[in-house]
Amino acid sequence: MNTSYECPSCGHETVFYVKTKTEFKSYDDLIGAVCIICGYTLTDENIKRYVRDIAIKCLQERLKKTGF
Ligand SMILES: [Zn+2]
Repeated sequence: MNTSYECPSCGHETVFYVKTKTEFKSYDDLIGAVCIICGYTLTDENIKRYVRDIAIKCLQERLKKTGF
C-alpha cells in the first residue's frame, strides 16, 4: 500500500511504497518502505523519530487546549 511521509533523504512530503503489507496498521509498517522520488529506504530509526515527533505534537496540542 501507499502512505505519505516526509522523506529524510530528499525532504519531500512524498509517497512511500510499502511492499509487504496490504493494510497500514502502525508506523512500524513503514520500515523498509521505499521513497518513490529518490529511492531512499526508511529505517526503524527514521520511523522512531517520526513517531516521537507526532507524539510531541499531540501533547503540545493537548496542553494548548487545557490552557497551559
Ligand atoms: Zn526521497
